[in-house]
Amino acid sequence: MLVCQLILNIISTVVRTIILVVRLVVETVCSWVSSIITTVVEVMRKVCRWLPWPLNKLCNWVADLVEVVQVVWDWVCEEVIKKIIDYIEVFWIYVEYALQWVCWFIDWVLFKWWRLLLCLWTKQAERCIKVCVKVTVDSRGVPVITNDEVLARIAKSNEILEQCNLKLELQSIEFVDQHIENVSCSAGGIFSEHFIWFNREKCFNGDGLTVFYVDSISGSSDGCSIPPSDWIALESGSNVGDIVHELGHLSDLFGHHDDPNNVMHASGAGTELTKTQCCMIRISKFSRACNRYSRSLKTIGHDAPESAEESKPTDE
Ligand SMILES: [Zn+2]
Repeated sequence: MLVCQLILNIISTVVRTIILVVRLVVETVCSWVSSIITTVVEVMRKVCRWLPWPLNKLCNWVADLVEVVQVVWDWVCEEVIKKIIDYIEVFWIYVEYALQWVCWFIDWVLFKWWRLLLCLWTKQAERCIKVCVKVTVDSRGVPVITNDEVLARIAKSNEILEQCNLKLELQSIEFVDQHIENVSCSAGGIFSEHFIWFNREKCFNGDGLTVFYVDSISGSSDGCSIPPSDWIALESGSNVGDIVHELGHLSDLFGHHDDPNNVMHASGAGTELTKTQCCMIRISKFSRACNRYSRSLKTIGHDAPESAEESKPTDE
């Protein structure tokens, strides 16, 4: 593990957990207070009916006032407090993105260059990369790719990565009821709503790869990665090598290879990797020692199309 990236992963996990807890507490308190006010108003209305004139008028006036307080309370919760938490979360996403570049630089200067040389000159043990897959829905609400297709693509990626003695360890496939189309992958893409959404929904904080299957990506490309992020977005009809291709981009293989048989060719249809390309992925922040105790594959959320195979992708 790269030291700076490891520290950033820990900080990121702590910050994201705090934001999550604060959001939960705020939502719970907001809903509790609102339901308490509703009950108070209901009781007051009943009491008001029993009171003689003019006390009943006064009582109803007070009940009306309490209802206004409830409207103000709900508005403050929804439009002020929750929005502030949203802004803090978005602010952190961009701070984290900037810090990822800082760590990218520090880790190259201190560690990666000699690890790259070591990898090029010696034979090394198998390394693994944790992967989780999140499948969004198309405009009709149907998942853009089936469970079995996801498994087939992970298996194909593992066939490609075998030449690098690398393996994707699939942790989970989640079906998310969210329609994502025209993902912008240009430089301006980091200021898009999609960038924020992917960073919010990703499974790992730097120590694994999240693969999002989406309805469409803008332009002719069928895959998108924004270095040094830890997620990629793919169209359902993307090429077999596209997971590895985008993983390569996130592993500092920024350019494309001329050979159409190479995974890093612009088409994404290739299956070959050079020794240097293998080493770049092996020394990336995603790579780690393989988990000897494989976890069962989880399929979560939206109705999963086709069957889920148990723990197959993580077995030796
Ligand atoms: Zn590319």
